[in-house]
Amino acid sequence: MIAIPHGLAEIGYLVASGCFIVGLKRLGSPATAVSGNRLSAWGMAIAVVITLLEGSILTWWQIGVGLAVGSGIGLWQARTVKMTGMPQMVALLNGFGGLSSLLVGGAEFLKAELAGEVIPTETGIVIQLSLLIGAVTFTGSLIAWAKLQEVMTGKAITFPLQKVVNALFFLGIVGLAAYQVMTPDAHLVPFYAVIGLALVLGVLLVIPIGGADMPVVIALLNSYSGVAAAMTGFVINNHVLIISGALVGSSGIILSQIMCKAMNRSLANVLFGAFGAGGTGAGAKSAAGLTVRSVSAEDAAIQLAYAQSVIVVPGYGLAVAQAQHVVRELAELIEKNGGEVKYAIHPVAGRMPGHMNVLLAEANIPYDRLYDMDEINPSFESCDVALVIGANDVVNPAARTDTASPIYGMPILDVDKARSIIVMKRGMSAGFAGIENELFYDAKTAMLFGDAKASLTKLVTEIKAL
Ligand code: NAP
Repeated sequence: MIAIPHGLAEIGYLVASGCFIVGLKRLGSPATAVSGNRLSAWGMAIAVVITLLEGSILTWWQIGVGLAVGSGIGLWQARTVKMTGMPQMVALLNGFGGLSSLLVGGAEFLKAELAGEVIPTETGIVIQLSLLIGAVTFTGSLIAWAKLQEVMTGKAITFPLQKVVNALFFLGIVGLAAYQVMTPDAHLVPFYAVIGLALVLGVLLVIPIGGADMPVVIALLNSYSGVAAAMTGFVINNHVLIISGALVGSSGIILSQIMCKAMNRSLANVLFGAFGAGGTGAGAKSAAGLTVRSVSAEDAAIQLAYAQSVIVVPGYGLAVAQAQHVVRELAELIEKNGGEVKYAIHPVAGRMPGHMNVLLAEANIPYDRLYDMDEINPSFESCDVALVIGANDVVNPAARTDTASPIYGMPILDVDKARSIIVMKRGMSAGFAGIENELFYDAKTAMLFGDAKASLTKLVTEIKAL
């Protein structure tokens, strides 16, 4: 049995916490994100090793098997997950984080209960919090995963008095938890009841949220899993768990707020607004009577080959088509012909924050060609061609002008101000918000219909042949 002194373990935990903090800071820029991720992983490895060495581990083989199986599944998942499946994977990871907090908090309760010990009030409170938040995070994340994976309907599921039912569940849990904290010889029935009700509450809280809002929900559940972990840290008096839980808790909530701001919606609207319960959003304009102009790959290629300045606007469709490598090839050809290519990144383009940055980085597109919305918007007026690839809502001018539109007020990329616009998408389907986009009917816009990867490949072939 190996056990390192407590003081040494605390120093190790401090080093691990330092790795998490610096790692998180480095995730703020694409240029340093990879090393930040690696540093955080090292921090976690240090924390795990110290925890194993600090405790009196009697069952090494069980821990070894758990580690091997868990790491194997994690490695396989991380290597095989598609970029478009990343939000689901994060949802599952959050869910398991919540489950861990639930199990550790529950084990501490049962340990004291079986030993006939009286749990101090403060410990009792944090145990109940880790049970409640851990359970809600677990089932809520599983529902988020199921919606995104299309295992269940992605639509908002609503029923009469839903908020009242949810509130009753919540009050029931708080009542039972308070009873356990205040009654030292409380029995197992309220303990299991809190867990059972909290598991159901997790489902109830996430089903009324539309599948497309899941990224915000996932960031929020991520925050919950952090809070649950921090609570568990207090239960077992583990400082690295408290610090890392607090980091996850705060960064998750900041991320949710950033996404809501970029969509011009409040967190309350995302959580309780049942966005996506119906089809088309209220007040969405109809396209009846408007005509679109389509363009062939040959003509679009000529336009791009001789353009002096091109701004590429990537959106969710680029991720679906996995066309990032062909985009780079096209950009290189335009540059070879003397044109300049920039990439305009909307904060909520795609289905998760940073989706476009990650996608373009995968194709080794230099970071300095990527421009944030505020930075690039003034450049559209002087740009020859705005090339919109699988983006829709983030370039919809209705956000500026149509007060009845569900996306009214959302900051958008000013693509409509470009001298000419080429939009690449498969048909006239709406984007996430389910509304028409006037940009597609603009006299300056030419639609290049087809899968983004296939169309880009045709453009590359055509330009090469010029
Ligand atoms: P979008 O509005 O969802 O539109 C994507 C477009 O891509 C669709 O209109 C679709 O049209 C097209 N498309 C799909 N597959 C394609 C393919 N293989 N090839 C070519 N085109 C394809 O996407 P967006 O402009 O990126 O906007 C993102 C939306 O998600 C925003 O409304 C945002 O608020 C929301 N959202 C984002 C986040 C985030 O963190 N990024 C979080 C929550 C919500 P066709 O079917 O006609 O091809």
